[in-house]
Formats: sequence, C-alpha cells, structure tokens
Amino acid sequence: MPESNRTIEDLLKLVRSTYASPDLDLLTRAYEVAERAHRDITRLTGDPYIVHPLAVAYKLAEMGAHVNVLAAGLLHDVIEDSEVTIDEVSTTFGEDIASLVDSVTKLKKIKYQGTDRYVENLRKMFLAMASDVRVVFIKFADRLHNLKTLYAQPRHKQERVAKETIEIYAPIAGRLGMSEFKGELEDLSFAYLFPKDYERVHDIISTKVREKGAYVSRVIDQTEKLLAESGLAEIQVHGRVKRLFSLHKKLARYDNDLSKIYDLIAVRVIVKDVEECYAALGMLHQKWTPIPGRIKDYLAQPKPNGYQSLHTTVFTEGGETIEFQIRTREMHELAEYGVAAHWRYKEAGMSPLKNLYWMEELAKIQKELSDKKDFMEQLEIMKIEVFKDRIFVFTPNGDVIDLPDGATPVDFAYAIHTEVGNKCSAVRVNSRMVNLDTSLRSNDVVEIITDKNRRGPNPDWMKFVRTHQARSKIKDATRSSVKGWLSNMMGRH
Ligand code: MN
Repeated sequence: MPESNRTIEDLLKLVRSTYASPDLDLLTRAYEVAERAHRDITRLTGDPYIVHPLAVAYKLAEMGAHVNVLAAGLLHDVIEDSEVTIDEVSTTFGEDIASLVDSVTKLKKIKYQGTDRYVENLRKMFLAMASDVRVVFIKFADRLHNLKTLYAQPRHKQERVAKETIEIYAPIAGRLGMSEFKGELEDLSFAYLFPKDYERVHDIISTKVREKGAYVSRVIDQTEKLLAESGLAEIQVHGRVKRLFSLHKKLARYDNDLSKIYDLIAVRVIVKDVEECYAALGMLHQKWTPIPGRIKDYLAQPKPNGYQSLHTTVFTEGGETIEFQIRTREMHELAEYGVAAHWRYKEAGMSPLKNLYWMEELAKIQKELSDKKDFMEQLEIMKIEVFKDRIFVFTPNGDVIDLPDGATPVDFAYAIHTEVGNKCSAVRVNSRMVNLDTSLRSNDVVEIITDKNRRGPNPDWMKFVRTHQARSKIKDATRSSVKGWLSNMMGRH
C-alpha cells in the first residue's frame, strides 16, 4: 500500500516540533535546489520525483538525524539525475553536506549480483565506502522508500532490490542495533522475494491477532493497573506483533511448529529506569506464574547488537501464555534506531552532530559502553580501520574483489583464480589497456586478458605484486617450470 506523500511543509512541521533550534532556512533551500533538479522527472508510481527525496528526509527527521543529514537526504539524488555538480552543492551548502551527498552517490555503485560468496565483501565495502555512518542512515532511508514504492517497478528489479536488501542492508542495520529498521526492511523485501511464504505467515499472524486481540487487550489493561497501583511512574504498556520475516525464519528453526513460538504477540512494558524494569518483572511474576526457562535478562547480558530488555513468558487466565518485554524508553528507542538513537541522545542539548565522524563517534560509544563486551565486538568488526588499507574493485560482471592498497592487476588475477593469474597477459582497467604493474584503485572495473598458450607467470611480477596469494602462486609456478625444465633435461639423458 502506497503511503501518502510528504510535502516540504510536512517536513518543516515535523522538524519544528521535534528539533531544538533547527536551521529551517537550510532545509528550504535544499528542497528548492532538489525540486528544481528533479522537476521534469516522474517516478514509475506516477508521482513527481521530488516525493522521493522528501520521503527520505522525512524518515531521517523521524530518526532525529542532524539537519545537515536531512539536507543531504533532500539532495541525495541530484548529482546523478541533474546538471547539478558536487562543487555547486559544496559552494551552496558547505563541505559537510557535499561530502554526504557525494558518498551516497558513490554507494549507488554497489549492486548485488547474485553471487553469494561476495556478500560479505559487499557488506564490508558498503561500510568502507560509507566511512561516515551518517551516509548509511541516508542510504537506509533511501532504500526504505524505494521498497515502499517497489510495486511500480518491473519484476526483475523488484527481485534484485529485495534480495540486495535482505542480503546487505538488513544485516548491516542489525549490526548497528537498528532492529526495528531491520525488521521493516526485511518485511518489505520478504513480500517480493518469497510471496507464498509471505502470504502464509501473514495469515498466521492475522488469524492470531483476530483470536487473541481481546485477550491481549485485557492483559494490557490488567498490567497497566497492576503497575500503576504499585506506584511506578511513566509506564507505557502496548501490544506488539512479531515481524513477518522474523516469524518465517523462526518457524523454519522450529519445524513449523507454531505451538513452540511464544512471542507471536507480546506485551511491551516501558518504564522509567533499570530498577523499575526489575520491579515490574517482580510484580508480573507475583500476579502470573512464569514459565521456567523463559526468563531472559538482556539487561545484565545484552544481545550482541546491544539489544536490552527483560523477557518473560507467563501463564495468565485459563492457561493462556503471553510474553512480556520490559525496558526503559531509551532502550526502546535504541532498539528502533540503534546507533542513530544513541547519537540523538548525545546530541540533546549538545553541539550539533556536524563533523562527528564515524571513528570519533565510535570511540565515544566505545568508552561509554566498554562494559558491554559483545556489543563492542560487533562494532569492532565494522571499524573503518579494518578497511582503511583495503581497496574494492569489480570484475566486469560486477563481483567485488577485496585487495590490499596498492594491489595490481596481477594480484587481482590471482584473487580470481590461479589459472587466470598464470595465464594473465594484459589488462583493461575501466575499459583502458594499462600495464600489469599499475596500482588499482577502489571502484576500478578490472578485466584480465589471458593467453592460453602462455607457459606461466613472469618471475619479474614478484617485484610488484602485493598479495601473499599472488606471491606464493608465482613462486609455485616458477618452481614447477624449473622442475619441469630439469626433468626434461634429465629425461633427455
Ligand atoms: Mn534515492
């Protein structure tokens, strides 16, 4: 179902009501430039193109991103779609916004080609290219709106976009602790990727909601009353239905046995602080008997992505069971927007997010969360330092090859296959013939020309190859050709 289109007035209204002292003039100017740039373009949905950047900026505003990020969201497609250049964006809106727009434009080059073995590399490349994590947020908001309007696209594009989302975007969102965002991306893609499974799971959920709706409302009422009577302040209780794709995966793990899945519908309890989380848990357990083994303390031991809550499943009226998820407001927002929400909190009343780059921010988060080991390990994996000395180049088919900085076409050839390396005779980089010792750069498209009559690698290649793999293969091949030559000689005697 298409959602209604946002206007610039909607965006300004949201920002005015949720931001401390936002630069509305900046947003208006960014909107005007984007509107002019996309004026004659229509989306396949039939809408004027500008509804797309507006939707992206609106989502970013809901996430609480800095106004610079919102402005970049409005401008994220102008470089590709119009005469506007990155220099003009820089002159008009400053370097920070220009660099965000530039990175988003570059990220468009990453396209999933259906080769599973490179998925991890694609994820790495995505993060490496988005060396500023704010770029990832813009890209997510962009993808979310494209998924919501995917119905207008041809079938093959629907499949590619959905698959790319499930394989690349959703796992990254998960690692950044953006669970709700991840769930939304997955469910939207799920409908296109596995329409039959989607239908089935959708039916299960809607039947359950119909059957249990009244019961869950009663439990919510009783819970609210219980907690209010006990003097807990600022409580919020609401029902939550399991995400479709997440249920689909869980059913597969449990042999499709629905009776083993306790959290189809859960009740969320949001309280003021950690002490009150435990207090609420105690009160619930006094009223209703907990099922043994179903109490999970993700406060003491957060999930690897930073998720924090207390979970418990209890028997209620007439032997019915229900899961409770207890957490603070901050934990709730972290579960929704992860790292983004974290920044939002840090930002409240502090200097604007401008110029806070991924590494600096990461270091700060690390300090604050140093006691939460698992979460840190996850973040560690994404540290840009890991990719700092790496380049990512493409095969002509669009597969990504991950190489050390300064790697040459020969390294690339050996990374593809030993035989490609051994028979490598020339190379085209970005459609131009270059020398085999040329240093490759990220985003180069590299095409190796092989000569099947070639005996083996040139020992001189040892002087310029960078990878261990190339070096050892060249050594092997040279040694075996010497041996072959020796044995030929011996044979003659
Ligand atoms: Mn876009």
